Amino acid sequence: MPTPSDDPVGEILVSEVALAARVRELAAEVSADYADRELVLIGVLKGAIFFLADLMRALTVPCEVDFMAISSYGSATKSSGVVRILKDLDMPLEGRDVLIVEDIVDSGLTLQYLLRNLAARNPASLEVCALLIKPGARQVRSSPRYVGFELPDRFVVGYGLDHAERYRNLPFVAALRQP
Ligand code: 5GP
Repeated sequence: MPTPSDDPVGEILVSEVALAARVRELAAEVSADYADRELVLIGVLKGAIFFLADLMRALTVPCEVDFMAISSYGSATKSSGVVRILKDLDMPLEGRDVLIVEDIVDSGLTLQYLLRNLAARNPASLEVCALLIKPGARQVRSSPRYVGFELPDRFVVGYGLDHAERYRNLPFVAALRQP
């Protein structure tokens, strides 16, 4: 039986209550900014699914959703810097107002790649809403327009974020204890 000190899930950095409140605030901000427009939300699988589902339900503007899957961390906890499309979008973006919904921005490499790739599809506008952002992300120019929380430079799990595919179902964001 694992004891509490064996539990790899450590300190809670963002509680369930804080997540719910901030997601509502972000949705209100996005809804105001896109009033009288129609939005295409792009979810980045798999980490963004919980955030996207909660954000989308709180939006008051008409919106559609599509998903992309890209390779990032695998089961390790360090960015490889290698980005590969595993699943592309089903819908064209030409002339659409597009909002990329990201779980977490660490080095920002993934986001930089995504922005370049999606901008080439000629959307009317292209912005990013990231739930979590780490300090390293400030070094890249492609900073998200909407950010939920700034985190310290620690590996986190929960609310969609995994470690080796586990812990996505935690209702909060917590630091992973590194061995
Ligand atoms: P970046 O390219 O910005 O360095 O990394 C972005 C991607 O790495 C995220 O979409 C996410 O999949 C993964 N990632 C970065 N930091 C963390 C973290 O603390 N926890 C988890 N589970 N994934 C992370």
